[in-house]
Amino acid sequence: MVTAGMAPRAALRAVTEALAGAGCPDAAFDAGQLLRFALGTDADPRLLDAPLTAAQAEALTGYTARRAAREPLQYILGSWDFMGLRLAVGPGVLCPRPDTETVCEAALALLAGTAAPTVWDLCAGTGCLGLAIRHFCPAARVTCVEKDAAAFGYLKTNTAGTGVLAVQADALTWPAAQAPGSADLIVCNPPYLTAAEMAALQPEVAREPAAALYGGADGLDFYRALLRDCRRALRPGDRLVLEIGAGQGAAVQALAAQHGWQNVACKRDAAGHDRVITVQNPPKST
Ligand code: GLN
Repeated sequence: MVTAGMAPRAALRAVTEALAGAGCPDAAFDAGQLLRFALGTDADPRLLDAPLTAAQAEALTGYTARRAAREPLQYILGSWDFMGLRLAVGPGVLCPRPDTETVCEAALALLAGTAAPTVWDLCAGTGCLGLAIRHFCPAARVTCVEKDAAAFGYLKTNTAGTGVLAVQADALTWPAAQAPGSADLIVCNPPYLTAAEMAALQPEVAREPAAALYGGADGLDFYRALLRDCRRALRPGDRLVLEIGAGQGAAVQALAAQHGWQNVACKRDAAGHDRVITVQNPPKST
């Protein structure tokens, strides 16, 4: 139990024990994050001596109870870092994940050498992909597309003042409604979990929006639509970059070939799982 007057180190131990007891996978890490948040500091709480005030103890008790009830850590903190950018997150939007940084890096590598590319981030959620692309490729003209009203609220917050455009629309229909050849690169982290995976979510993920996770019975609904519609939206030779689930590499590559994409490649994330499919719209000459 956390009480006023407790030393930060003792509070850290108490919160770690409470979270471990509730089955939280990274109890010590999460406890450190919650303690920093309650103390309003980025410093390592183990190096702090000032005892907790009543308000800090009360706040930490509340955060600990929420996390012990398996609310995502990111929702409690209200922000999370992606590629070094701090983004607003909370209930109603998918938390940016480290896996998705691999998608961003693949997109940035493909953009190298293009002067002022037009980039679309479909199913943008927080906008993590589009915002990081704009950050590392400042000349890019980036549009983030998100359908869900709650997620779009976070997207508006995160894109404010960045030069990135936020559009509330359905990624399944929006590309087909754009002028042909209007994008240089499309990136998308669509919902891709299967019905079986949705039935076995870890408690934290079950608190995230199903609309951002569920990709139809076999998880492939968005890939079918995007691989069908996005060639027309891209210029010849340009690329579509897709995040995929670890077991979907072969199926998405087969769909890409079926829809006439070239240079279909699969990249792995830091954990060694298939995570990114990049495909190229055939150049004009072929
Ligand atoms: N990678 C997420 C998960 O496994 C799923 C995100 C998504 O469907 N785009 O929880």
